[in-house]
Amino acid sequence: MCGIIGVTGRQDALRVLLEGLSRLEYRGYDSAGIVLQQAGGSGDLRVVKRAGKLGQLLRTVEGQPLPGRTGLGHTRWATHGAPSDRNAHPHTDPAGKVAVVHNGIIENYQSLRASLGERTFLSDTDTEVVAHLVADAYERHRAVSGQGDLLTAVLDVVARLDGAYSLCFIHADEPDVLVVAREESPLIVAQADGVGYCASDIPALIDHTQRVAALHDGQVARITPDRIDVFDHAGRPAQPHAYDITWDIAAAEKLGYRHFMLKEIHEQPQAVADTLLNRQREGEIVLDELRVDLDEFARLDKIFIVACGTSLHAGMLAKLAIEHWAGIPVEVEVASEFRYRDPILSEHTLVVAISQSGETIDTLAAVGHARDQRAKVAAITNVVGSSLARQADAVLYTHAGPEIGVAATKTFVTQIVGVELIALYLAQIRRALWPD
Ligand code: GLU
Repeated sequence: MCGIIGVTGRQDALRVLLEGLSRLEYRGYDSAGIVLQQAGGSGDLRVVKRAGKLGQLLRTVEGQPLPGRTGLGHTRWATHGAPSDRNAHPHTDPAGKVAVVHNGIIENYQSLRASLGERTFLSDTDTEVVAHLVADAYERHRAVSGQGDLLTAVLDVVARLDGAYSLCFIHADEPDVLVVAREESPLIVAQADGVGYCASDIPALIDHTQRVAALHDGQVARITPDRIDVFDHAGRPAQPHAYDITWDIAAAEKLGYRHFMLKEIHEQPQAVADTLLNRQREGEIVLDELRVDLDEFARLDKIFIVACGTSLHAGMLAKLAIEHWAGIPVEVEVASEFRYRDPILSEHTLVVAISQSGETIDTLAAVGHARDQRAKVAAITNVVGSSLARQADAVLYTHAGPEIGVAATKTFVTQIVGVELIALYLAQIRRALWPD
């Protein structure tokens, strides 16, 4: 959902990565990181990553010798695990042989993690498990044929992934090779003047080439400094969509749309799909993040929605949905007024607080007031690890990604998806919707 840049075959790989990341900054992000394959044969991977703005990363790499011709860079918009140094990308396997950067969501990461047995994971992300799986697949291949192969390992692993992703890998034992995979998350590849590139978005490459190829869903590519081979999910040769970039940098940031708001309107279907990912299993709605005791949900007799601005409008739709599906009375309150009157709250009251950023001060104050009165609080927010997410008993994340346009578009649509999910979930628990 945020930014990826990869390069192979340039002495100044570090500079290319950092400049590429700064070209992707307009998208918004919460942390940034890079990995470089140390020059010359089988080498270590050097990872540097920091929560916060790119400046944090720049200060950390400054003065460090980070040679290498091949590497990956990432800006993260957290979907699994708070924004922190340890959750920032790249992630590696325990031996530090494989590094991966990822945009999107691996829907089945919990079952994949479980399939690996007892191991230490260094992050809370859905991504880290992919590095472990690829490293294992690589070693299995090495045991059978005497030599590992990153492309084969990635093909093996992506066959097991559910979700939306663009993934880029390097391996310490495969100098000057990037392997990338795409499913429902943009990824372009390019080759120019003896250098191979990959990126999530055109601005990252616009200084280096005008000719790029967009991978289609299910495609995997192996990129070296002088060639790019693209395959389908079964490893058969495949064709990406090659085209010339005719935009200048300002247009490229908007992917050719006249303004960010228009671009974000066009991103709505993807944002809705991402928010719905993993929410339904065997005909039942599953909201894993809603950690409130199911009995408590069953005993609710009143719901307040607290929100401001656009989120308040999502709250009005929440009232319709919850009263209709779950049959629980709902009041919608402007968050800034909530604490100045005397709402009647008890432990059987649920307060649903909606805030895109999770930092809306009036909504946070309303949540504080509700908690003082022993009410349960569920949050709907787009920002993992935000103050609202931390203060609530339960949280449902919308996965709209960052929004640059001032008027809410995809973040609002995904809030509506969020409130409908909560309404259906409550109906399911209370058996209001389906007969026994
Ligand atoms: N799901 C991954 C994470 O939370 C990637 C997020 C992104 O697209 O930046 O770390």
